[in-house]
Amino acid sequence: MQNIRRERIASLAIGKVYLIGAGPGDPGLLTLKGKQCLKNADVVIYDYLANPVLLNYAPADSEKIYVGKVCGNHHLPQEETNALLAEKAVAGLQVVRLKGGDPYIFGRGGEEAAYLKQRNIPFEVVPGVTSGFAAAAYAGIPLTHRDISTSVALITGHERSERKLTGLDWERLATGLGTLVFYMGLTNLKLISGKLIEHGCSPQTPVAVVQWATLPRQRTQVGTLATIVEDVARAGIETPAIIIIGEVVKYREDLRWYDNLPLFGKRFLITRPRVQAANFVQKLQQQGAETICIPTIEIAPPDDLQPLDQAVKEIASFDSLILTSANGVDAFFERIAANRLDVRSLAGVQLVAVGPKTAEAIEKRGLRPDLVPKIYQAEGLIEELLAEGVAGKRFLYPRAEIARTLIPDSLRQAGAEVVAPVAYRTIRPTGKEDMIRHLLVESELDAICFSSPSTFENLLEMFGDELIKLQGRAKFFSIGSITSKAIRKHGFAVDLEPEKSTIDDLVTAMVKYYQD
Ligand code: SAH
Repeated sequence: MQNIRRERIASLAIGKVYLIGAGPGDPGLLTLKGKQCLKNADVVIYDYLANPVLLNYAPADSEKIYVGKVCGNHHLPQEETNALLAEKAVAGLQVVRLKGGDPYIFGRGGEEAAYLKQRNIPFEVVPGVTSGFAAAAYAGIPLTHRDISTSVALITGHERSERKLTGLDWERLATGLGTLVFYMGLTNLKLISGKLIEHGCSPQTPVAVVQWATLPRQRTQVGTLATIVEDVARAGIETPAIIIIGEVVKYREDLRWYDNLPLFGKRFLITRPRVQAANFVQKLQQQGAETICIPTIEIAPPDDLQPLDQAVKEIASFDSLILTSANGVDAFFERIAANRLDVRSLAGVQLVAVGPKTAEAIEKRGLRPDLVPKIYQAEGLIEELLAEGVAGKRFLYPRAEIARTLIPDSLRQAGAEVVAPVAYRTIRPTGKEDMIRHLLVESELDAICFSSPSTFENLLEMFGDELIKLQGRAKFFSIGSITSKAIRKHGFAVDLEPEKSTIDDLVTAMVKYYQD
């Protein structure tokens, strides 16, 4: 990657700046074009309001420069940001300037473009979903409506250095019939509502203030021009916030859809390895939840690959291949490829998967499991295999290093031969301990979700003290009985366990837990 980029740098006299709208916060609201530009970026220069999650689209070795607010202090002076953009482009780099919302709506994007234009530096603008529109959509407020409002105005509630908003034509704003959307207006809310009433708006005009729109921490307060200042103060709504003023606000009652999702406002800690967490995270977010991922395990190859490789080479001599996790499936097929074999070598071997996720991983390899037990655990699997009869058969069971011995023990007792090489190890990730400790202590978690005994045991070993303190404050959710047993063994209570041990069932159980 680095080399390709160097070649590109060498071949181009000058780079280009892409002014990209990052959207209001929800990462799904970035445009496809914006995402493509990020993927090609050498440098990303980003703001306080651009969701940092989007940086993951940029190449791992690209430079990321933050020019937003730091602890409430003001950002890098605009002149310096401009100069930085120019400097990087002149060096031949593809520069992404990632700005919250839309770059040309109150984002000083116009100033940045003009600066580049003056210096003959090529640039492009990729629009984004502006926070005013997004706040309305996610709060359930249609900004226009045939019967009520035929126009919308986007207005700054904070002008340059002075704070009196004298540049605004209050007369026209107050009587213009349309919906008013104020950006950066929260600190001037009293002034804004007062001026509008003074210039002819009814004090009963509905107002909505939306903080952190489109993110799981979105908060919305509704009131009228007469009451909103007090309402907002009482609710403790802070910046960044959008103020929407007009009769259309009334529709929220009927049309709100986001902040009444079943898990909206809940914050969960996910302890699965990142790749496997993706599906879980997505499902929780679809229900409105906020997720924090701290993988407490990582998957690593076994210390000695020889026993697994030996078994892989002899795969045709086995009657049956038992796989009990997606990690096991990946590890096994990696060795199939490494030994220059392919799926054809599995012809005639019975494929057994412990549950639907393992089955799915097998199906991704173009194979269909012959057996998935009704109970998705080793116990269920053994029961069904024994019912089929195992005496005299050869089983290959590529396993986790710490796997229970139940499967090989039971099959051997029933007269089978079992080869059980280690296919992968789960190890504890290192290097992020301080950050994790901070998260555990500082973020108000509603629950921690454990998807295997080791996700719990590793967290306990690493952060036992913090975990003890979390008891009672955060709930402990477990994917199934084996994980629950590990949690209880250490004296912790399990608050939720779905009937079936799958992510889908866990999410459904979580939704039900908070609905009841
Ligand atoms: N270019 C941006 C606006 C930048 S000005 C856009 O198009 O959205 C900064 C103001 O945007 C903030 O003071 C706030 O009023 C608004 N804002 C940005 N993101 C927001 C969010 N997620 N929720 C509420 N307001 C937001």
